[in-house]
Amino acid sequence: MDTTGAPRELSGRALATALRTETTERAAELTALGTTPHLAVVSATADKSSAWYVRSIARAAEKAGLSCSVVDLGPDATPATIRDRLRALSADPTVHGIILQTPLPAGARLDDLASAIAPVKDVDGANPLSLGRLAAGLPAFAPATAEAVIALLDHHGITLEGRHAVVVGRSTVVGKPAAHLLLDRNATVTVCHSRTHDLAAVTRTADVLVAAVGRPRLITAAHVHAGTVIIDVGTNPTEDGALVGDVDPAVARHAAAVTPVPGGVGPVTTALLLQHTIRAALTVE
Ligand code: NAP
Repeated sequence: MDTTGAPRELSGRALATALRTETTERAAELTALGTTPHLAVVSATADKSSAWYVRSIARAAEKAGLSCSVVDLGPDATPATIRDRLRALSADPTVHGIILQTPLPAGARLDDLASAIAPVKDVDGANPLSLGRLAAGLPAFAPATAEAVIALLDHHGITLEGRHAVVVGRSTVVGKPAAHLLLDRNATVTVCHSRTHDLAAVTRTADVLVAAVGRPRLITAAHVHAGTVIIDVGTNPTEDGALVGDVDPAVARHAAAVTPVPGGVGPVTTALLLQHTIRAALTVE
Protein backbone atom coordinates (compact mmCIF):
# COMPACT_ATOMS: atom_id res chain seq x y z
CA MET A 1 0.00 0.00 0.00
CA ASP A 2 1.41 3.44 -0.84
CA THR A 3 1.11 6.53 1.38
CA THR A 4 -2.18 7.63 -0.22
CA GLY A 5 -3.75 4.36 0.85
CA ALA A 6 -4.30 3.44 -2.80
CA PRO A 7 -3.26 -0.04 -3.86
CA ARG A 8 -0.20 -0.41 -6.04
CA GLU A 9 -0.87 -1.30 -9.66
CA LEU A 10 1.48 -4.07 -10.81
CA SER A 11 1.63 -3.14 -14.48
CA GLY A 12 3.28 -5.55 -16.91
CA ARG A 13 4.01 -2.99 -19.59
CA ALA A 14 7.49 -1.82 -18.54
CA LEU A 15 8.64 -5.40 -17.97
CA ALA A 16 7.24 -6.47 -21.36
CA THR A 17 9.07 -3.61 -23.05
CA ALA A 18 12.36 -4.55 -21.36
CA LEU A 19 11.94 -8.22 -22.34
CA ARG A 20 11.11 -7.26 -25.94
CA THR A 21 14.16 -4.99 -26.17
CA GLU A 22 16.38 -7.84 -25.00
CA THR A 23 14.71 -10.23 -27.46
CA THR A 24 15.16 -7.78 -30.34
CA GLU A 25 18.91 -7.56 -29.57
CA ARG A 26 19.29 -11.37 -29.34
CA ALA A 27 17.28 -11.88 -32.56
CA ALA A 28 19.53 -9.41 -34.41
CA GLU A 29 22.66 -11.19 -33.13
CA LEU A 30 21.33 -14.59 -34.22
CA THR A 31 20.23 -13.24 -37.59
CA ALA A 32 23.71 -11.75 -38.13
CA LEU A 33 25.11 -15.23 -37.50
CA GLY A 34 22.78 -16.68 -40.16
CA THR A 35 19.81 -17.92 -38.10
CA THR A 36 16.63 -15.90 -37.82
CA PRO A 37 14.63 -17.29 -34.86
CA HIS A 38 11.41 -18.74 -36.24
CA LEU A 39 8.17 -19.26 -34.32
CA ALA A 40 5.37 -21.36 -35.82
CA VAL A 41 1.83 -20.91 -34.48
CA VAL A 42 -0.57 -23.73 -35.36
CA SER A 43 -4.24 -22.81 -35.21
CA ALA A 44 -7.36 -24.88 -35.92
CA THR A 45 -10.23 -22.67 -34.86
CA ALA A 46 -12.58 -19.99 -36.15
CA ASP A 47 -12.63 -18.36 -32.70
CA LYS A 48 -12.27 -14.58 -33.15
CA SER A 49 -10.40 -13.82 -29.92
CA SER A 50 -7.97 -16.61 -30.73
CA ALA A 51 -7.39 -15.13 -34.21
CA TRP A 52 -6.78 -11.73 -32.58
CA TYR A 53 -4.27 -13.28 -30.17
CA VAL A 54 -2.43 -15.10 -32.98
CA ARG A 55 -2.19 -11.88 -34.99
CA SER A 56 -0.82 -10.05 -31.97
CA ILE A 57 1.87 -12.72 -31.43
CA ALA A 58 2.83 -12.60 -35.12
CA ARG A 59 3.05 -8.78 -35.03
CA ALA A 60 5.14 -8.80 -31.85
CA ALA A 61 7.46 -11.49 -33.27
CA GLU A 62 8.05 -9.63 -36.50
CA LYS A 63 8.59 -6.34 -34.69
CA ALA A 64 11.31 -8.02 -32.61
CA GLY A 65 13.02 -9.41 -35.72
CA LEU A 66 11.82 -13.02 -35.40
CA SER A 67 10.05 -14.71 -38.25
CA CYS A 68 6.61 -16.09 -37.48
CA SER A 69 4.55 -18.55 -39.54
CA VAL A 70 0.87 -18.91 -38.77
CA VAL A 71 -0.30 -22.36 -39.85
CA ASP A 72 -4.09 -22.10 -40.01
CA LEU A 73 -5.54 -25.59 -40.42
CA GLY A 74 -9.16 -24.41 -40.08
CA PRO A 75 -11.82 -25.43 -37.54
CA ASP A 76 -12.55 -28.74 -39.32
CA ALA A 77 -8.98 -30.05 -39.00
CA THR A 78 -8.83 -33.57 -37.58
CA PRO A 79 -6.55 -34.46 -34.65
CA ALA A 80 -4.46 -36.54 -37.09
CA THR A 81 -3.93 -33.54 -39.40
CA ILE A 82 -2.93 -31.32 -36.48
CA ARG A 83 -0.60 -33.98 -35.05
CA ASP A 84 1.06 -34.56 -38.45
CA ARG A 85 1.68 -30.85 -38.88
CA LEU A 86 3.16 -30.54 -35.38
CA ARG A 87 5.47 -33.50 -36.10
CA ALA A 88 6.55 -31.95 -39.41
CA LEU A 89 7.32 -28.61 -37.71
CA SER A 90 9.19 -30.42 -34.93
CA ALA A 91 11.38 -32.06 -37.58
CA ASP A 92 11.90 -28.84 -39.58
CA PRO A 93 15.35 -27.40 -38.73
CA THR A 94 14.27 -23.89 -39.78
CA VAL A 95 11.57 -23.80 -37.07
CA HIS A 96 12.72 -23.11 -33.50
CA GLY A 97 9.52 -22.63 -31.51
CA ILE A 98 6.03 -24.11 -31.89
CA ILE A 99 2.77 -23.01 -30.29
CA LEU A 100 -0.49 -24.91 -30.61
CA GLN A 101 -3.27 -22.37 -30.26
CA THR A 102 -6.50 -23.14 -28.39
CA PRO A 103 -9.43 -23.70 -28.61
CA LEU A 104 -9.03 -26.92 -30.59
CA PRO A 105 -11.70 -28.60 -32.73
CA ALA A 106 -14.22 -30.78 -30.87
CA GLY A 107 -12.70 -34.15 -30.00
CA ALA A 108 -9.09 -32.89 -30.07
CA ARG A 109 -7.20 -32.81 -26.76
CA LEU A 110 -4.41 -30.32 -26.09
CA ASP A 111 -2.30 -32.74 -24.01
CA ASP A 112 -2.59 -35.46 -26.64
CA LEU A 113 -1.70 -33.23 -29.60
CA ALA A 114 0.96 -31.19 -27.78
CA SER A 115 2.87 -34.43 -27.21
CA ALA A 116 3.79 -34.11 -30.91
CA ILE A 117 5.70 -30.86 -30.23
CA ALA A 118 9.42 -31.57 -29.71
CA PRO A 119 10.21 -30.50 -26.10
CA VAL A 120 13.14 -28.35 -27.32
CA LYS A 121 10.67 -26.34 -29.44
CA ASP A 122 7.81 -26.38 -26.91
CA VAL A 123 8.04 -22.65 -26.16
CA ASP A 124 4.64 -22.50 -24.42
CA GLY A 125 5.23 -25.59 -22.29
CA ALA A 126 2.22 -27.45 -23.73
CA ASN A 127 3.79 -30.91 -24.09
CA PRO A 128 2.97 -32.91 -20.93
CA LEU A 129 6.69 -33.80 -20.79
CA SER A 130 7.45 -30.11 -20.21
CA LEU A 131 4.99 -29.93 -17.30
CA GLY A 132 6.40 -33.16 -15.86
CA ARG A 133 9.95 -31.80 -16.02
CA LEU A 134 8.78 -28.53 -14.47
CA ALA A 135 7.11 -30.48 -11.64
CA ALA A 136 10.34 -32.44 -11.14
CA GLY A 137 12.34 -29.20 -10.95
CA LEU A 138 14.19 -29.99 -14.21
CA PRO A 139 14.93 -27.48 -17.00
CA ALA A 140 11.91 -27.09 -19.30
CA PHE A 141 9.91 -24.40 -21.01
CA ALA A 142 7.17 -23.30 -18.58
CA PRO A 143 3.91 -22.09 -20.07
CA ALA A 144 4.57 -18.41 -20.74
CA THR A 145 1.54 -17.25 -18.73
CA ALA A 146 2.64 -19.15 -15.62
CA GLU A 147 6.16 -17.77 -15.98
CA ALA A 148 4.71 -14.27 -16.45
CA VAL A 149 3.16 -14.53 -12.97
CA ILE A 150 6.61 -15.04 -11.40
CA ALA A 151 8.30 -12.49 -13.67
CA LEU A 152 5.77 -9.83 -12.65
CA LEU A 153 6.20 -10.56 -8.95
CA ASP A 154 9.99 -10.38 -9.32
CA HIS A 155 9.83 -7.21 -11.38
CA HIS A 156 7.79 -5.48 -8.68
CA GLY A 157 10.04 -6.71 -5.89
CA ILE A 158 7.48 -9.01 -4.22
CA THR A 159 9.21 -11.60 -2.03
CA LEU A 160 7.99 -15.18 -2.39
CA GLU A 161 10.24 -17.16 -0.08
CA GLY A 162 8.30 -18.41 2.93
CA ARG A 163 5.10 -16.60 1.96
CA HIS A 164 1.72 -18.19 1.39
CA ALA A 165 0.75 -18.20 -2.30
CA VAL A 166 -2.78 -19.28 -3.18
CA VAL A 167 -3.45 -20.18 -6.81
CA VAL A 168 -7.11 -20.31 -7.85
CA GLY A 169 -7.33 -22.59 -10.92
CA ARG A 170 -5.54 -25.85 -11.66
CA SER A 171 -5.34 -25.98 -15.47
CA THR A 172 -2.20 -27.41 -17.05
CA VAL A 173 -1.62 -24.11 -18.89
CA VAL A 174 -1.75 -21.75 -15.92
CA GLY A 175 -2.72 -22.97 -12.45
CA LYS A 176 -0.57 -26.10 -12.08
CA PRO A 177 2.62 -24.73 -13.67
CA ALA A 178 2.24 -21.47 -11.71
CA ALA A 179 1.97 -23.54 -8.50
CA HIS A 180 5.17 -25.45 -9.39
CA LEU A 181 7.05 -22.24 -10.18
CA LEU A 182 5.91 -20.67 -6.89
CA LEU A 183 7.01 -23.79 -5.03
CA ASP A 184 10.41 -23.57 -6.76
CA ARG A 185 10.67 -20.08 -5.30
CA ASN A 186 10.06 -21.46 -1.80
CA ALA A 187 6.56 -20.11 -1.39
CA THR A 188 4.09 -22.22 0.58
CA VAL A 189 1.52 -23.03 -2.08
CA THR A 190 -2.19 -23.84 -1.90
CA VAL A 191 -4.11 -24.64 -5.10
CA CYS A 192 -7.88 -24.02 -5.19
CA HIS A 193 -10.40 -25.13 -7.82
CA SER A 194 -14.11 -25.44 -8.48
CA ARG A 195 -14.58 -28.02 -5.70
CA THR A 196 -12.78 -25.99 -3.02
CA HIS A 197 -15.05 -25.41 -0.03
CA ASP A 198 -15.27 -21.81 1.16
CA LEU A 199 -12.86 -20.33 -1.37
CA ALA A 200 -12.84 -16.94 0.40
CA ALA A 201 -11.71 -18.52 3.69
CA VAL A 202 -8.68 -20.00 1.88
CA THR A 203 -7.79 -16.99 -0.27
CA ARG A 204 -8.00 -14.64 2.74
CA THR A 205 -4.93 -16.45 4.13
CA ALA A 206 -2.88 -15.61 1.00
CA ASP A 207 0.06 -13.23 0.93
CA VAL A 208 0.08 -13.67 -2.87
CA LEU A 209 -3.15 -14.57 -4.66
CA VAL A 210 -3.03 -15.80 -8.28
CA ALA A 211 -6.47 -15.81 -9.93
CA ALA A 212 -6.51 -18.05 -13.02
CA VAL A 213 -10.12 -19.07 -13.37
CA GLY A 214 -11.83 -17.38 -16.29
CA ARG A 215 -14.79 -16.08 -14.24
CA PRO A 216 -15.24 -12.30 -14.36
CA ARG A 217 -15.10 -10.68 -10.92
CA LEU A 218 -14.98 -13.99 -9.01
CA ILE A 219 -12.50 -12.53 -6.54
CA THR A 220 -14.16 -9.88 -4.40
CA ALA A 221 -13.20 -7.86 -1.32
CA ALA A 222 -14.31 -10.86 0.79
CA HIS A 223 -11.43 -12.94 -0.70
CA VAL A 224 -8.51 -10.69 0.32
CA HIS A 225 -6.91 -8.82 3.20
CA ALA A 226 -5.07 -5.51 3.25
CA GLY A 227 -1.70 -7.16 2.65
CA THR A 228 -2.67 -9.39 -0.31
CA VAL A 229 -0.76 -9.02 -3.57
CA ILE A 230 -3.02 -10.15 -6.43
CA ILE A 231 -2.00 -11.40 -9.85
CA ASP A 232 -5.07 -11.46 -12.08
CA VAL A 233 -4.47 -13.91 -14.94
CA GLY A 234 -8.11 -13.92 -16.09
CA THR A 235 -8.93 -12.47 -19.48
CA ASN A 236 -12.66 -12.50 -19.97
CA PRO A 237 -14.13 -10.76 -23.02
CA THR A 238 -17.19 -8.59 -22.31
CA GLU A 239 -20.12 -8.09 -24.69
CA ASP A 240 -18.76 -4.71 -25.78
CA GLY A 241 -15.40 -6.24 -26.75
CA ALA A 242 -13.42 -5.16 -23.67
CA LEU A 243 -11.40 -7.50 -21.45
CA VAL A 244 -11.97 -7.97 -17.72
CA GLY A 245 -10.07 -10.07 -15.24
CA ASP A 246 -11.17 -12.55 -12.58
CA VAL A 247 -10.79 -9.87 -9.92
CA ASP A 248 -13.50 -7.31 -9.18
CA PRO A 249 -11.88 -3.87 -9.67
CA ALA A 250 -13.39 -2.80 -6.31
CA VAL A 251 -10.98 -5.27 -4.63
CA ALA A 252 -8.12 -2.91 -5.39
CA ARG A 253 -9.13 -0.75 -2.43
CA HIS A 254 -8.89 -3.71 -0.03
CA ALA A 255 -5.55 -5.25 -1.12
CA ALA A 256 -1.89 -4.24 -1.21
CA ALA A 257 -1.31 -4.52 -4.95
CA VAL A 258 -3.04 -5.86 -8.03
CA THR A 259 -2.24 -6.40 -11.71
CA PRO A 260 -4.42 -4.53 -14.23
CA VAL A 261 -6.38 -6.31 -16.97
CA PRO A 262 -5.44 -5.57 -19.66
CA GLY A 263 -1.82 -4.51 -19.18
CA GLY A 264 -0.70 -6.95 -16.49
CA VAL A 265 0.01 -10.61 -17.21
CA GLY A 266 -0.94 -10.45 -20.93
CA PRO A 267 1.91 -8.33 -22.37
CA VAL A 268 4.49 -10.19 -20.26
CA THR A 269 3.18 -13.53 -21.56
CA THR A 270 3.67 -12.50 -25.18
CA ALA A 271 7.13 -11.10 -24.45
CA LEU A 272 8.15 -14.36 -22.72
CA LEU A 273 6.93 -16.47 -25.65
CA LEU A 274 9.33 -14.58 -27.89
CA GLN A 275 12.13 -14.86 -25.34
CA HIS A 276 11.54 -18.62 -25.18
CA THR A 277 11.80 -18.78 -28.98
CA ILE A 278 15.22 -17.13 -28.81
CA ARG A 279 16.25 -19.66 -26.15
CA ALA A 280 14.97 -22.48 -28.38
CA ALA A 281 16.90 -21.10 -31.37
CA LEU A 282 20.09 -21.12 -29.29
CA THR A 283 19.40 -24.71 -28.16
CA VAL A 284 18.31 -26.12 -31.51
CA GLU A 285 21.20 -24.58 -33.47
P1 NAP B 1 -9.46 -23.37 -17.48
O1 NAP B 1 -8.68 -24.42 -18.16
O2 NAP B 1 -10.91 -23.21 -17.80
O3 NAP B 1 -9.31 -23.60 -15.91
C1 NAP B 1 -10.04 -22.84 -14.99
C2 NAP B 1 -9.75 -23.31 -13.60
O4 NAP B 1 -10.54 -22.54 -12.70
C3 NAP B 1 -10.10 -24.78 -13.34
O5 NAP B 1 -9.06 -25.40 -12.62
C4 NAP B 1 -11.39 -24.70 -12.52
O6 NAP B 1 -11.52 -25.73 -11.57
C5 NAP B 1 -11.20 -23.41 -11.77
N1 NAP B 1 -12.50 -22.84 -11.41
C6 NAP B 1 -13.59 -22.68 -12.18
N2 NAP B 1 -14.58 -22.11 -11.47
C7 NAP B 1 -14.11 -21.92 -10.22
C8 NAP B 1 -14.65 -21.38 -9.05
N3 NAP B 1 -15.91 -20.92 -9.00
N4 NAP B 1 -13.88 -21.34 -7.94
C9 NAP B 1 -12.62 -21.79 -7.96
N5 NAP B 1 -12.02 -22.31 -9.07
C10 NAP B 1 -12.78 -22.37 -10.18
O7 NAP B 1 -8.84 -21.92 -17.71
P2 NAP B 1 -7.28 -21.51 -18.00
O8 NAP B 1 -6.92 -21.90 -19.38
O9 NAP B 1 -6.44 -21.92 -16.85
O10 NAP B 1 -7.43 -19.93 -17.99
C11 NAP B 1 -7.84 -19.23 -16.83
C12 NAP B 1 -7.99 -17.76 -17.17
O11 NAP B 1 -6.72 -17.26 -17.55
C13 NAP B 1 -8.92 -17.48 -18.36
O12 NAP B 1 -9.60 -16.25 -18.13
C14 NAP B 1 -7.98 -17.32 -19.52
O13 NAP B 1 -8.52 -16.50 -20.54
C15 NAP B 1 -6.83 -16.65 -18.83
N6 NAP B 1 -5.54 -16.79 -19.53
C16 NAP B 1 -4.82 -15.66 -19.70
C17 NAP B 1 -3.59 -15.71 -20.35
C18 NAP B 1 -2.78 -14.47 -20.51
O14 NAP B 1 -1.81 -14.45 -21.23
N7 NAP B 1 -3.11 -13.39 -19.80
C19 NAP B 1 -3.13 -16.94 -20.85
C20 NAP B 1 -3.87 -18.11 -20.61
C21 NAP B 1 -5.08 -18.01 -19.94
P3 NAP B 1 -11.71 -27.31 -11.97
O15 NAP B 1 -10.35 -27.78 -12.35
O16 NAP B 1 -12.24 -27.91 -10.72
O17 NAP B 1 -12.69 -27.32 -13.12
